[in-house]
Amino acid sequence: MGTSATGRKTGNGGRAAGVPDVDAVVVGAGFAGLYMLHRLRTMGLSVRVFEKGSGVGGTWYWNRYPGARCDTDSVEYSYQFSDALQQEWRWTERFATQPEILRYLEHVADRFDLRRDIRFETTVTEAAYDEAAGCWRIATDDGARLSATYCIMATGCLSAVNRPEFDGLDRFEGEWYHTGAWPHEAVSFAGKRVGVIGTGSSAIQSIPLIAAEAGHLTVFQRQANYSVPARNAPLDPGEYAEIRENYGELRKEAKKTPTGCWWTVNPATADEMGAHERRRELEARWQKGGLCMYSVFADVLMNDEANEIAADFVREKISELVHDPKVAALLSPQSFIGCKRICLDTDYYATFNRPNVTLVDVSDAPIEEITRTGLRTGGEDHTLDTIVFAIGFDAMTGPLLRIDIRGKGGRTLTAKWADGPRAYLGLAIEGFPNLFTITGPASPSVLTNMVPAIEQHVEWIADFIAHARACGRPHIEASLAAEDAWLAHHDEVANGTVFPGCNSWYVGANVAGKPRRVMPYTGGFPAYIERCEAVVANGYEGFTLTAV
Ligand code: NAP
Repeated sequence: MGTSATGRKTGNGGRAAGVPDVDAVVVGAGFAGLYMLHRLRTMGLSVRVFEKGSGVGGTWYWNRYPGARCDTDSVEYSYQFSDALQQEWRWTERFATQPEILRYLEHVADRFDLRRDIRFETTVTEAAYDEAAGCWRIATDDGARLSATYCIMATGCLSAVNRPEFDGLDRFEGEWYHTGAWPHEAVSFAGKRVGVIGTGSSAIQSIPLIAAEAGHLTVFQRQANYSVPARNAPLDPGEYAEIRENYGELRKEAKKTPTGCWWTVNPATADEMGAHERRRELEARWQKGGLCMYSVFADVLMNDEANEIAADFVREKISELVHDPKVAALLSPQSFIGCKRICLDTDYYATFNRPNVTLVDVSDAPIEEITRTGLRTGGEDHTLDTIVFAIGFDAMTGPLLRIDIRGKGGRTLTAKWADGPRAYLGLAIEGFPNLFTITGPASPSVLTNMVPAIEQHVEWIADFIAHARACGRPHIEASLAAEDAWLAHHDEVANGTVFPGCNSWYVGANVAGKPRRVMPYTGGFPAYIERCEAVVANGYEGFTLTAV
């Protein structure tokens, strides 16, 4: 970087006046940013990646809380773009731990020599489209400025943590942590009075481990969540060898399922099965563990009655696992199953049988304040040495809206998305030329296996950029009509599912004041891929390409 006459750092890199500093800026160095960098670089583009963390990994860099693991099988939650990579890497368990996934991403960064184009510990604060110059002007928190033809947001869906905005937190004399921004140093709970706020995936994974170490653990629950057993285990060497032999075929098959995962999708609706058959299917999936409960009946996410059958089954399991019927009742969700992300656990429900664990219901009596020595809810004081906020994320839109993004005419993305996010295919936004979002709102993203979803986006974006440059019209913009039509389809599909009927982060209900809209595309991965391919086949239908 050089220094301009005004003293501002610039990234001109010796390029001619009027030519952007780099071809592309990528924001984020997680699964999406790493592959985007690799792909663009192999096309010969100059790329700069900005990453807030001090290392690669994104989600897997930040979420270091006890018990953090992926809820998708490790052999599937990995890149497929390089067969050499998937052959040489060895996963050890069915569901990989956070440290193992982080090691994998560090290996990927080294193997493809990616680090030299990544600036770590640098947060992008602004991205503004300069219409006259036809480029993006990027500003970072260290005062640097860089211009780029393309700006690609690889910012993740669950990277903007919900800040704990509780009165009195600044007065708390104990220690507190957020699961999504966990310290790199070891945290000890030994003998302490610990409070966990939240009962989502992060809490459900960490609670059994914290309970095993703490003097006493109090869990503050607002809404209960459905959790099914992970049944994690070391990978069987024979089965793993077979997977590696057939990786290509298995990956292809996975893309034909709505979630992009290999598990068997039951083609029968609940109605088409007898009670006995339904029970067998539910029990088999409970015993198998993992998220295959999502596909227990063809219509489990679309039909209230089918959904109730699956929900009842899990509630019954909870009542068997939790000894105190009052606690079991509190832990039993009454909402649709699956319209909030189903959690995977190892001993979560059994943890509430421990004498050192208490469940406190805060659904009717919200946490009033954090006190010097703990917290107060329902007029009662709870003394705590440590508080763990497992309160989730400003999902999907948060990572984008926390950057000041301005498109044509200086219009902010915040203004454009005032009534909820809108994007064509979840990839591009009208009025924001040459800006792409990887797994953005209105794409299947969080409802699929994230890694293939990311790879599909990265490859689609890279191919589009290659095409636009090759035909001498490198400036790409989605049309409003195309965006409107995609949104109409997106909403229509979502309205035929259980997703709108729950107060989940999928609809933004967990963040006060956030417009309510089902954010991920609910039509399934195959339909989405087909649509993206049709857009290409029709000459990038819905986009305009211009020379300047
Ligand atoms: P989450 O699912 O949004 O859960 C946050 C929890 O905090 C909820 O129980 C929420 O209650 C509670 N909460 C928030 N504000 C509160 C308040 N003021 N008072 C009391 N309770 C409050 O967040 P998460 O557990 O971090 O998980 C987010 C997503 O990340 C998951 O759904 C999953 O997609 C992903 N994830 C995946 C894994 C995995 O792969 N195994 C692990 C962790 C996370 P309400 O439900 O009432 O809002």
